[in-house]
Amino acid sequence: MSDDAATPRRDPRLALSRRAYLPRIIGLGLGSLCVAATLHETGAGWPLWLLLALNGLAWPHIARWWTARSREPHSHERRLLLLDTLLGGVWAAAMGFSVLPCAVFATLLCFNNIAVGGLRMLARGLIALCAGAALGWLVLDVPAFTLVPAPLVLLACLPLLIVYPLTIGQIVYRQAKTLVEQKRLLTRLSRTDGLTGLYNRRHWETLAERHFAEEYRPTTLALIDLDHFKQINDTFGHAMGDQTLRRASAFLREALGDQALVGRYGGEEFGVILPGTPIDQALPLLDTLRERFPRPEVQGDALLPCTLSIGLAESADAMNDYHDWLRHADQALYSAKTQGRNRVVAYTPITRSA
Ligand code: GH3
Ligand code: MG
Ligand code: MG
Repeated sequence: MSDDAATPRRDPRLALSRRAYLPRIIGLGLGSLCVAATLHETGAGWPLWLLLALNGLAWPHIARWWTARSREPHSHERRLLLLDTLLGGVWAAAMGFSVLPCAVFATLLCFNNIAVGGLRMLARGLIALCAGAALGWLVLDVPAFTLVPAPLVLLACLPLLIVYPLTIGQIVYRQAKTLVEQKRLLTRLSRTDGLTGLYNRRHWETLAERHFAEEYRPTTLALIDLDHFKQINDTFGHAMGDQTLRRASAFLREALGDQALVGRYGGEEFGVILPGTPIDQALPLLDTLRERFPRPEVQGDALLPCTLSIGLAESADAMNDYHDWLRHADQALYSAKTQGRNRVVAYTPITRSA
């Protein structure tokens, strides 16, 4: 079974709900401590205690279950956040708008709103908070306002004040780490050819452009083409063609080493940049490579064509840009083809054979 099949896919629409689950458990659980301390101080009746237990302990799980069943989980989760905020307003009224717990609640709820939807969501959150406070004030038997909290209330606020920001910090850190890894993966994928794992043409040309600069000279560029490759596809099918391309790529990477920058330039054509290598050193190097290019296994009666034609050019002042450099290598490759294939040709104004 492949990795993909073994790992159950997570519904991306539930990402916000998943992200909100733990902070909601911690935030509401510890927030309940502040409210409980105030209810204890004011001698509130059992209905409020029951509501508190429901909101503080059961609600995070109900919210997650509810969102998982909604048609638009993301917007549903945002609405639930506004509901959390509204309930925060109700609890602020239930605590007689006691300054410390209310300030802690308002700050953390606004923080959640802004984290989920920026200033727009913050504005909605503030409206929900005020609406909740007004509702609580109308419906509940609001205790007298206290500016200075009782010691028990103060102590009960500390766990929320300390633990909630730490939890959010850890979550943000984990997300930032995932983002960095995903960015790295995306960068690698955007530079890689899917079939062969070599650099793709766009990235390889970027490297060629960079290595055209004087500081890298002498640098030689090679264009390598598989001879009569079409016959492989025609005789043995496209899959065998693909396999040949993968093998050729692995061979080039291994034979040329880490210093060489190898890319897939086209269908069955590869580009190689050899930094610090003048063309008279590159010529024997590439000729040895051509000779060592593995002979294929014989397929039935047929023999796979398996030779390389290679064109070389060294970057020089006389060239306008790296396009000229590529054009020269391409002319040398063309020359290798017309001279009968399976050879290396270095570009000179009158190209010469190895
Ligand atoms: P020459 O010696 O002149 O280079 O002849 P050739 O047959 O190698 O070149 P030609 O340009 O006629 O054909 C190249 C073939 O490569 C045509 C195309 O179908 C095949 N090709 C291009 N990309 C892929 C690929 O990703 N997989 C496979 N299997 N074939 C490919
Ligand atoms: Mg070819
Ligand atoms: Mg070709």
